[in-house]
This record gives sequence, structure tokens and C-alpha cells, in this order.
Amino acid sequence: MQYLGFNIFRKRYLLILVVPVISLFMVATNDLHHLHYRVFELDSELGAPYARQEIGTWYIIHGIVTFASMFVAFYLLLSQWRETSREYKPQLVALLFGQLLPMVTAFVYLIGFTPPGIDPVPMVLWISSMLYLWAIGSSRLFRIMPIAKMTIFNNINDGVLVLDEYGRLVEHNAAAEKMFPGLSKTMFGRHFDEMWKDFSGENFPFEIEKKAIQKDLQFTGEDHQPYTYQIRTTPLLHGLYHKGQLLIFTDITEVKRLQLQLEQQAFYDDLTQIYNRRAFFQMCDQYFAEATEEKRSLTVILMDIDHFKKVNDTYGHAVGDQVLKHVVKLCQEQLNADQLFGRYGGEEFVLALRNTDLPAGEKVAEQLRQHVEDHPFYMKEGVLPVTLSLGVASANHEPEETLFQLLNQADHALYVAKEDGRNRVSVFAELVNKSN
Ligand code: GH3
Ligand code: MG
Ligand code: MG
Repeated sequence: MQYLGFNIFRKRYLLILVVPVISLFMVATNDLHHLHYRVFELDSELGAPYARQEIGTWYIIHGIVTFASMFVAFYLLLSQWRETSREYKPQLVALLFGQLLPMVTAFVYLIGFTPPGIDPVPMVLWISSMLYLWAIGSSRLFRIMPIAKMTIFNNINDGVLVLDEYGRLVEHNAAAEKMFPGLSKTMFGRHFDEMWKDFSGENFPFEIEKKAIQKDLQFTGEDHQPYTYQIRTTPLLHGLYHKGQLLIFTDITEVKRLQLQLEQQAFYDDLTQIYNRRAFFQMCDQYFAEATEEKRSLTVILMDIDHFKKVNDTYGHAVGDQVLKHVVKLCQEQLNADQLFGRYGGEEFVLALRNTDLPAGEKVAEQLRQHVEDHPFYMKEGVLPVTLSLGVASANHEPEETLFQLLNQADHALYVAKEDGRNRVSVFAELVNKSN
């Protein structure tokens, strides 16, 4: 059974040994009770070495157990036929033949085809034994594979739970014990759903179906830290029969964390933590397409800090960085989540306002300008006034208009605001009107 990959627990060992031990005892003490052999004496007609024997009750029990065991062993070996590689088929055949031989011999003996006074079964058992010795001795596979498989099972980092066809735990590996503190062999036989409730306080979030699935799962560990496990389930099939389910848990907490961090880095500006230029364009493209399609208004505002170079030159880059954060904080105070705010370049920021026409957009720009002007930057060296120049432009729903053009118009307006003396808002439409 061990060679075939069955778990042999102490209880099973003892169970298998019960009848043979009793039989040994019965034979040794047969003269006292005659339960094994009713009669066992020298054959009076044939003489030595022939014996005359009549079987007793225990002999029948012993015989039934012995032959049932052989039959089961034969069946178990045969069931491994397909899974056994070609190189080890001869060993399997030898083992099968080793089981079959005493059974067939006993059958022949029972129907009376053997000479009287001779029980051929013990005589052929030595052949079985030789076959067994050869098969086991010559196949390292039998000795090493179960050990190798257990070693792999217990050394992988993935937690593995094996459930039987009713969803009860039958085996787990060392990694699973680390993942689910409290998991131990004493839980064998418990329903997985129940166990999971003990581990997590929650129901298992999906049904363990009889097909293979893969899902991510949030799990709070005993250290109260959040973990993300990727779960793969594989049905264990024997032929067509569903015999159980394999649950494999891979800890992807670190992978997820890195993924989030990468996403953060890809979409947000390091210094100010608002959208970076790329993220802004990605989202604003969508805003723009929607506005064009549904003929809704969309306004963009470009803003640039006035004389920012001077801040850097006078107080250093570190203070410059603080001023950038200061301006972003002030703008965020005035904005809501629906207003797309991003860092356009060094000290330039961009804002996209959905469902906002030009006058409304101009109002927002003016609010921002005023708010920043009203809140100078405080530092060790004193108070530093900060001002913004802003350019505003709205989508005109011309079919050939692009976001690029719209931003260009805002940039143009910004340029005019700078020309006109800074700390002011300039609107692109007015430029058109002025030049008309
Ligand atoms: P104007 O009023 O015309 O906008 O003048 P300005 O000095 O603000 O304009 P200019 O574009 O010449 O200077 C922008 C400066 O912003 C130059 C650059 O060194 C600085 N800058 C860009 N990015 C950063 C940054 O992340 N941190 C700091 N501290 N400075 C930056
Ligand atoms: Mg600039
Ligand atoms: Mg500037």
C-alpha cells in the first residue's frame, strides 16, 4: 500500500496485523483448543511426511482474510496499471503475478486437482516472495518516488490542501500550516468550509467546484496583516470519477504590492502625488471623446507658477519643491474629485472640467488664482508670495478638433496671461474675439 502511495497510519498497520497475530497464537496453541485445525496428525495411510488435517473455524476466518487481502492487493496493483511508467511495468506484472499465484493455486487445491495430502499453497508462496523481492529490489521508483513526492509536497512554498470527494480535508503540506496557523493533522476529516470559517471568520468566498478554477483572495492573517492568495483548484479524478479536490494557495501579497506600487508610479507624479502627464492624457482623451460625442462642454485650464525660477535660484531646489506641493494643496482645496487635475510639466499644471463651459471654467480659474494669491508660502526665511497665471479654453465640438488643439489654445491663453503681466486668467475665446 505504501508503494502505491497510500497513507499508512498506525491504526491501519495494527488493523492489518490483527488477524495474522491471532492466527499465529492459534496455531501455537492449537493442541489446547483445536480451533485452527480440528485435526492435525500424521496421515495414517500415507505415513510420514504426509499429514492429515481438518480445518477449524479460525482457519476459515484466517483463510478468508488472507485471500481477501490478496485480492484487494491484486486489485490495487491493477488499478495502478495506467499510471505506471513503461520501465516499471515488468515489476508491476511481477507483483500482480505474485498475488495471483497463491490465489490460483488455492483454487486448484480446493477443487481437488492436487495430489492428496499435499497443500501446494505454501509451496508456491516462495515464488511469490521471490517475485516480490525482485520487483521491490530492482525498482528504485517504488522506494524513492513516494519519498520524493512527499519531499516536493512539503518543500514547495505554495500551500496545498487535499480534500476528498465530500470536501473534507485529507492532507496538507508544511507551507499550508504556515499560511493557516492552527492547521494540523487533527483537522483531517473536517469539512473545508467549516475549517475556513475558523481560519478567517468568513465563509469561503466561492464554491469549490468540480472543475479547475483560479481566483485571487484577500485574507487577514493571524498577524492581522492583509494577504493576497491566488487560489487554484484542481479536481482529482480517477478515471471518470471525481475523488476529491486539490487546493493550491500561492502567496502573491508581495506581487500585488509591487503591482500597486508600479501602477502608482505609472500614474502619479512622485513629488505632488497628483496625476502625471501621461495619466492625465489617458483620462482626458476619454473626457474629450465623450464631450465630442455627446456634445457636452469641456473646459481645460493650464496654469503656470509665476517667476518660479527665481524661487529655485533664491531659496534652492528643495524650497522650490515645497512651493510646488503648496500650490497643489491649495488647488486641491478648491477642486472636487470629478475635476481632473494633473502635473503637466515642471511648474505647470493642467485641469480638465467636464460639463463646464467657458464662463464657468473661467470662474474656476479665477477662484484658483485668488486662492493661491491669498495663501502665500510660509518658510523659515519669511513669507513668499506665490501667484499663478492661467489659460482657459473650451472644446468647440468641431468634428476635426483634437485634444491637442484644445490644450494648445489653453497654452496660448496662458502665454497671453503671462504677457499681460502674470497673476491673471486669460481665456482663449476672448483672444479670438480680440483679433476679430
Ligand atoms: P514665468 O513666470 O514666465 O513662468 O517664469 P518661470 O521662472 O516660472 O518660468 P521658467 O519656465 O523659466 O522656469 C520654470 C522653472 O521651474 C525651471 C525649472 O528649474 C523649475 N522646475 C521645473 N520642475 C521643477 C521641480 O520639480 N522642482 C523644482 N524645485 N523646480 C522645478
Ligand atoms: Mg513654465
Ligand atoms: Mg513659470
